[in-house]
Order: sequence, then C-alpha cells, then structure tokens
Amino acid sequence: MSVVYRSILQLLHHSRLARATSAACRGAGVVFMLHRVLPSATPRCEGCHFAPNAGLAITPEFLDAALSFVRQQGYELIPLDAVPERLQQARAGQLQRPFAAITLDDGYRDNMEYALPVFRKHEAPFTIFVAPAYADGEGELWWDALEAVIRDNDVVHCDLEGLPDRFHTHTDAGKQAAWDILYPAIRYMDEYEQRAFIIRFAARHGLDVHAQCRELIMDWNELRELSADPLCSIGAHTMHHRALARIDEEDARAEMQQSRERLEQELGCTVNTLAYPYGDPASAGAREFALARELGFSLALTTRKGHLYAEHADHLTALPRLSLNGFYQDIRHLDVLLSGLPFMLYNRFRKLDVA
Ligand SMILES: [Zn+2]
Repeated sequence: MSVVYRSILQLLHHSRLARATSAACRGAGVVFMLHRVLPSATPRCEGCHFAPNAGLAITPEFLDAALSFVRQQGYELIPLDAVPERLQQARAGQLQRPFAAITLDDGYRDNMEYALPVFRKHEAPFTIFVAPAYADGEGELWWDALEAVIRDNDVVHCDLEGLPDRFHTHTDAGKQAAWDILYPAIRYMDEYEQRAFIIRFAARHGLDVHAQCRELIMDWNELRELSADPLCSIGAHTMHHRALARIDEEDARAEMQQSRERLEQELGCTVNTLAYPYGDPASAGAREFALARELGFSLALTTRKGHLYAEHADHLTALPRLSLNGFYQDIRHLDVLLSGLPFMLYNRFRKLDVA
C-alpha cells in the first residue's frame, strides 16, 4: 500500500493534475492527525534501521515547515471545537477561508518537548487526545512494546497458537519479518486478550510495558501544565485505548463516557471532543458514531482519510482526518493531500464516508 500510495502522490504532484482539480476536490477544511514529534531517530547501531513505528513520528522541522505551508495556502489554523460552526458556515456559503485544525493522539511526552514550541511559534491551536489509563502510567502501548522487544532481542519467543515459537531477530530483515507476522496477529486479537498477551510477552523479554508507558506518555501533572496553555485543548480517547467496535456496546459507552469524566476531573477543563482509537472502519463504525452523538460529544474523529465538506455538518461524530505521517515528510506530498484529489479518487468521488 505505502509504495503505491507514495507513487500516486508523486505522480499527482508532478502531473499538476492535483492543482488543476483542487477547486473541485478541496473541502471546506481539514483536520490533521499527528502522534509523535521527535528529532530524527539515531539508529542504535550502524546499519540498524528497524523502526516500524516511524510513521507515527514527524520531526519538529517538518511540523514547522508544514504549518508555514498550510498558512501560505490560505488556511486558517483554528481550534478543533470551532469546526462545527465552520461547517455550518460552509453549508450556508459563508465560509471566508478554508480552515485547518491540528490534533495529536495518545499524549506522548514529546508533544510537550518538541511540538509545543512549534505550535507557539505559529500560534497554532492544537488538541491532544488522551486515554486516562495511559496518563495513569498503566496503559499498554502494545505497538511500541512489540517494536522494543524485537529491536532489543536477537531471538524473540512467542506462545501464540498457529505462530512459530521463536523468531530469529538478529538482523534488520529478521526483525522486519517478525514484525510483519506479530503485528497483525496482536492488532486483531480480542481487545482484552491482546493486553494480557503483550504484558506477558514483553515481560518474558525483560520489558515492563507499564514502565514503558510511563516513560513515553505524559502524566497528569504534565497534562495539567500543557492544558493550561491557551493553544491547547484536550479530547477523549477512551479509558484504555480500545478499538470500540470490537468490544460490546456497554463497554464501548463506558470507555467513551468515563474517559471524558476522568479528564475533566483531573484537568479541570471541558472535554467535548473524541478521537476513536485506531479510528479505522473496523474500530469505529455506525454504532460508535451514534454512541458519541448520544453521549453529547460535539464532534468525534476517525482516521478515515479525507477533507471536511459542508455535508459533514450532519455527521460530526464521523469526521475524517489527514495524517502527517513520518514516512511522507515532504511538502510536495502535503501539497497533494491539500488538493483533496487522492481522497476523492480513494473514496470514488464521494465526499462522505460515514457509514
Ligand atoms: Zn491512539
């Protein structure tokens, strides 16, 4: 997928097709999705390049360049909670300028250290989506744990039925091969078994996943400090970072509602927005969109890709985003994303993907 995607983006950029069609494809605005902002990683040894989660991190320099570019393209950087009103304006034909809102999922500590200075420089409002169990230091960042186990071990042991019981991971190729098998196996495990598995699997290789969570994710004191910044707002991301569509309805409702209540209690702010963990159609669908509406969230974000159109005013709990992805840190790619064309092609010229 990624090679094809990259080629299409390059083709679109060079063909100028994107620019020619942008008036037709561009929406009223966009919501950007980020996770981590980190200086380029130094490989841990010469020739080691195993970094499968690198797509989740962009550099502060790219963030800086991206924000400048977005402004240059005429976008107004607005706080996320202003989006519903802008969509109403778009529907009434009264929107003055396209808008862009910035979101960061999961509350990684690097957001404070490396992203905040860039947001301040640009006076760019941003929203961080926090799962309270992670801020408590008791969450499982299973994708980071899996990466660390494979990266730091020459042999990885596994006790999952149907999978090899050991992987030889002393080379980059071996590490990547192990990741390619283990990542999907863990990603699509039952939500509750998944967490029990990753705790056991990491411990067997000397990694404490909860210590890793405390190392990577901001605690409540840091979140209080950050959320006091007028540019920052906080959104809910479920209690335990669950793929909501894969748990029963009562649990899904509780995950959403309790995360909001706990954030408001700890941070003393109002929490009206939600980002569905993972956010793909298998993790958030019609049932979750209705639940978010019923619980009174003013908007909720998926990770489906696309611009926001006036028509989204009727689907505020099923909004798409644009990912600022570490694998594509190139302003030419951002240029094509802002044209809207790749998503129009991907969504077969439908503006809405909300079912
Ligand atoms: Zn997340």
